[in-house]
Amino acid sequence: MASASADLTPASGEIDPVFDPRRLETVACLDMLDTPPEASFDRIAGLVCRVFGVEAAMVSLIDAHRQWHKAAQGTERLSVPLSDTFCRKTLMFDRPLVVEDATRDPRFASNPHVTGAPHLRFYAGVPLKMENGFAVGTLCAIDSRPRRFSEEDLQTLSDFADLAVDYMELREQAMTDTLTGAFSRRAFREEARRAVALAVRHSQNLSVICFDLDHFKSVNDTYGHPAGDEVLSRVGETVRTHMRESDLFARLGGEEFAVLLPQTALKGAADVAEKLRKDISNLRFDFGGHTIGVTCSMGVAGLEPGTRDIETLLTCADTALYQAKSDGRDRVVVGNGGEAATKALRRRVLKAGKIDFQGDGAPIACSVRTLGPAGAGLNMISTTDVPDRFQLVIRSDGLDARCRVTSRTPTHLEVDFK
Ligand code: GH3
Ligand code: MG
Ligand code: MG
Repeated sequence: MASASADLTPASGEIDPVFDPRRLETVACLDMLDTPPEASFDRIAGLVCRVFGVEAAMVSLIDAHRQWHKAAQGTERLSVPLSDTFCRKTLMFDRPLVVEDATRDPRFASNPHVTGAPHLRFYAGVPLKMENGFAVGTLCAIDSRPRRFSEEDLQTLSDFADLAVDYMELREQAMTDTLTGAFSRRAFREEARRAVALAVRHSQNLSVICFDLDHFKSVNDTYGHPAGDEVLSRVGETVRTHMRESDLFARLGGEEFAVLLPQTALKGAADVAEKLRKDISNLRFDFGGHTIGVTCSMGVAGLEPGTRDIETLLTCADTALYQAKSDGRDRVVVGNGGEAATKALRRRVLKAGKIDFQGDGAPIACSVRTLGPAGAGLNMISTTDVPDRFQLVIRSDGLDARCRVTSRTPTHLEVDFK
């Protein structure tokens, strides 16, 4: 039986593998957090339920503050706070965990998921380990009734976990995105790096446009994911009609795209962006008897002395895009490489953060999703109890900064460092 030793906390002084910066980086590279359901993962969760006759099964990703269900069968797809979940333990031990009857297991008998909803009795979980050895989440089977789970059962569950990992790796390696025909993030990075090196060597212009659909979540929420997919696909088509042969078009994330324009100065790129923005906003979609349109916000950046590699160039365009969002969306903002812009630059990251009240209440775990010299973007289960000023600790970076909240949603905070 593959169950863990009695102790549930890592040996003192050891870094908790859940918060290992390299593990979090691996999760970030997958680009899968908060993406819609996908048939391959749904199928695996369904198979686990059927094969073992359990009430529920989940494919989960675990970031720095929550367990998020990519697929769930027999239960809702949710974000669950990390602290007490069984899967967190599976990840911490870095090996399969089987609990046949939690009420009879001193390690779990008082766990809130056992004493309260969903009244777990049975749990079997396997870490989803990527090629680099880091686990991004778990595949698990749960039941409110106790049950036996043989070595053979565990082997079968591990085979399903391998299958889930295979899908994740295929998804990551895909050169092009089937929905939009755009390059995948990884393929784009490689091609773009080459294009930028060439432009730098020959002192040529090169620009990049980043854009993100506005309020896209509400399209999905109102008309369903297939409708959202159709929007993405038509937006992809629209971009391709504007492109020259040498341009690179990529889907960087869910509804975020980039177009790299070699031999194009900033002004020319801004004109292309403006045309593109107009054409996208003129698209019409018929969903369930309603005709709707979509808009997008765009950021443009060009190769300058301060932005001579693709990472910085993308960050620069992204900062302009962020500005376009806060200026009211449906617009193009042209970035500049000035000092203010450099200060505002934020990298996309996935780091473990702690909102600390310095003894005045329990700290709150968060996932740091953007980070720059002057501020950060933080995700958490709920921002309700977070005041406007607090201390942010990012242990992996040795950062301990006084923060002021500049904007908040129920699960996200933007903060400036004071
Ligand atoms: P904002 O204007 O601030 O960008 O708002 P938003 O609603 O677009 O932003 P948010 O990042 O909250 O939502 C992005 C949504 O995109 C959430 C996610 O469900 C959806 N999405 C991501 N990838 C896909 C996809 O492949 N298909 C569909 N249909 N939706 C997707
Ligand atoms: Mg959006
Ligand atoms: Mg987005």
